[in-house]
Amino acid sequence: RQRVLSGIQPTADSFHFGNYLGALRQWVSLQDEHEPFYMVVDQHAITVEQDPKVLRERTYRSAAQLLAMGVDPERSAIFVQSHVPAHAQLAWVLNCITAFGEARRMTQFKDKSAKGGEGASSVGLFTYPILQAADILLYRPAYVPVGEDQRQHLELTRDLAHRFNTRYKKTFRLPEPYILKETAKIYDLQNPTAKMSKSASSPAGIIDLLDDPKVSAKKIRSAVTDSEAVVAFDPEGKPGVSNLLSIFAALTGRPAEEIAGDYAGRGYGDLKGDLADVVVGFVTPLRDRALELLEDRSALDEVLASGAARARAVADRTLADVYDRVGFVRPL
Ligand code: ATP
Ligand code: MG
Repeated sequence: RQRVLSGIQPTADSFHFGNYLGALRQWVSLQDEHEPFYMVVDQHAITVEQDPKVLRERTYRSAAQLLAMGVDPERSAIFVQSHVPAHAQLAWVLNCITAFGEARRMTQFKDKSAKGGEGASSVGLFTYPILQAADILLYRPAYVPVGEDQRQHLELTRDLAHRFNTRYKKTFRLPEPYILKETAKIYDLQNPTAKMSKSASSPAGIIDLLDDPKVSAKKIRSAVTDSEAVVAFDPEGKPGVSNLLSIFAALTGRPAEEIAGDYAGRGYGDLKGDLADVVVGFVTPLRDRALELLEDRSALDEVLASGAARARAVADRTLADVYDRVGFVRPL
């Protein structure tokens, strides 16, 4: 069984449909054939300012959502990034083999630092992709299930792995991104050319897993479309409608074009109403289960502790190899 690794930031009270369809659903399906390591990346979250109380709460909410959607702690190590010190330790070594200009090319930094200006951004936000490379490489995974927005970071991860392997000795496996074309990028409902994002979308643009399902239904009914009133799957020409069709297709397992065919001669209102029903049917049990799991913090602590122990066993071994290869003296 090959390893897979992925992470998600506890930067909102709830995950959204982009997170779920783009990445988390694959976290669940990959469990059958692989050995997964899935983490809540609290160290990535603090690259932008977080309220400590809120961050802690969101970390628990993240764990509860993963369990509720079917990430199984028997088959998958579910843990919190800061519980495994090797992530920060390997990140330092990788910082030292990353060129400044190489880090500078990361478009996500450019996007995320655009708001406050580069001067207002933390160095942590700048080096975030290097910590992410460490997160991944420690586990020597074959695949990393993520959304399209992470492709460039995966490329950097592979470049750093290759560089380390050639400069020192073969240590890391070059991981492949695992990105499903149909759901690689889910768009903001109000701004269907931008990705749905925890930190950048307006509330009306995001469908959250833990929202009251009635609120989600309303958001779908108010999604931005276009003035043609013809339901067709055409991501370039009709981004709003096509985004709704992509979500519809992902939740029902039917091709988007086929669903579009059902609405020939009907308006957007019918499509939105039916999708709202599908979404409510999907989120209601998931949300109930997540809220129930959140009631028992010590059970969540136990899951995270056992996940971290499994993760440390793998990560510490890789880190020891790395320290040895770069020439650090082994402590007695
Ligand atoms: P933030 O805005 O704080 O960066 P985010 O919504 O991008 O939050 P992350 O925790 O950064 O969420 O990403 C978690 C996973 O969800 C990643 O694999 C990412 O590629 C995926 N993802 C995020 N947004 C989308 C989206 N709109 N469509 C598809 N996948 C997405
Ligand atoms: Mg993100």
